[in-house]
Amino acid sequence: MARDACGTLGELKLIFEHEGTNTNYVPMDMALNDRLPSPFNRKNLPLPDVSEVDVVRHFTLLSQRNYSVDTVFYPLGSCTMKYNPKINESASRLEGFAAIHPLQPAETCQGALQLMYELERDLCEITGMDAVTLQPAAGAHGELTALMIARAHFHGKRKKIILPDSAHGTNPASAAICGFEVVNIPSNEKGCVDLPALEKAMDETVAVFMLTNPNTVGIMEENMPEIVRIVHGKGGLIYCDGANMNAMLGITRPGDQGFDLMHLNLHKTFSIPHGGGGPGSGPVCVKAHLEKYLPLPRVVKKGDEYSLDYSKPDSIGRVRSFHANFGVLVKAYAYIKALGPGLKKVAEAAVLNANYMLASLRGSYPVPHDRLCAHEFVLSGDARASEGVHTTDIAKRLLDYGYHAPTIYFPLIVHEALMIEPTETEGKETLDGFIAVMRKIAGEPAELVKGAPYTTPVGRLDGVAAARKPNLRWNREA
Ligand SMILES: *Cc1c(COP(=O)(O)O)cnc(C)c1O
Repeated sequence: MARDACGTLGELKLIFEHEGTNTNYVPMDMALNDRLPSPFNRKNLPLPDVSEVDVVRHFTLLSQRNYSVDTVFYPLGSCTMKYNPKINESASRLEGFAAIHPLQPAETCQGALQLMYELERDLCEITGMDAVTLQPAAGAHGELTALMIARAHFHGKRKKIILPDSAHGTNPASAAICGFEVVNIPSNEKGCVDLPALEKAMDETVAVFMLTNPNTVGIMEENMPEIVRIVHGKGGLIYCDGANMNAMLGITRPGDQGFDLMHLNLHKTFSIPHGGGGPGSGPVCVKAHLEKYLPLPRVVKKGDEYSLDYSKPDSIGRVRSFHANFGVLVKAYAYIKALGPGLKKVAEAAVLNANYMLASLRGSYPVPHDRLCAHEFVLSGDARASEGVHTTDIAKRLLDYGYHAPTIYFPLIVHEALMIEPTETEGKETLDGFIAVMRKIAGEPAELVKGAPYTTPVGRLDGVAAARKPNLRWNREA
């Protein structure tokens, strides 16, 4: 396994720390000095004095220390780290997609416009919504875009957003950035929206009720008709944070449940690599009555011709340069077209895998919201708190067994949370392997677990110092 191999390689030096191993036989002086204009011709550049093979080895070894979903199971709850079919990559690299310029005239990139148009239609079909913008570059960006649409819809008159405490953390951040006042309501004992609390908080000053569904404890909301009645009864909009669409594909549609607008995370549900922060895509889908506010330009079709329409006066305008992270759109399109009606099986397997794992771990870890889950579930790592074993120790011990850790200490409403999302792309063998290791860790001596990890290139790090006094830049003088 790659992890073990890394452990035996010892400390990797920084590239600057290698000593003059230069075996380049190309005379660099000759190659460049007499061709660059003299102002640019500097001596003593602070570059590492290493040969090409040293550079290649250095970065190849570093890359082998990465966790990736292509090498290990990655149960990072809320992030949907599923396997990404390689055919998506091939599609996005097709020259006609990869080499176009965003300012090319529409008649020279009909295929790209057609792809965007069809992707919008497919996302409408999947979500039960009427119109889509593909512009937002991430889930949180989609939330912000949707809230700007809501602000336009209410002409800035309604100032409040209601959020349950089981919302994803980006929801309150987006609401605040958009200038709204956030009103928090609690969840009930089943992990769903507390209806009396919603009824009490909802009035004519509230623009939007934002609901993460399924929510951050992996539970599907049970009282949608009631929620719709309460929020629409006061003229408010209901927003679905649909980043967790993995649990609903082909089974239920937010549009049918009564939501007015929502965002999707193409880079979660529709299989796009997204470790390390991007690029992503967070399309916003709306019901017909909100379509006029969508960002510009819109891709339109007249006869067989696709073009860009900038003429909508009520639009909130642009939320991003050019036309979204286009390569990401190609991957999502390829995925949707390849699976077609098979998308339903994605959701079925994602939910089955999560429930299988939850059922298998129930005896070993406390389950604060113990019921049928959607695509993910949340355990608590506090069972051995009296021995000093915490969630962070369990997460670090998992690294010794070659697994990426689950999401930890999120959501905040669960004490010592361990949030696990197996995804549909894992088979029973992988699930069973992870379950066996989780059970084993639950029974390991406290001192062993608290000292983990032992097999990784570096051991237990000082997390507090890393957060409080980050040293992000190597300094030659230091
Ligand atoms: C991941 C996620 C987001 C944020 O998406 P980004 O692309 O990371 O901005 C929002 N809501 C939920 C429920 C999520 O899982």
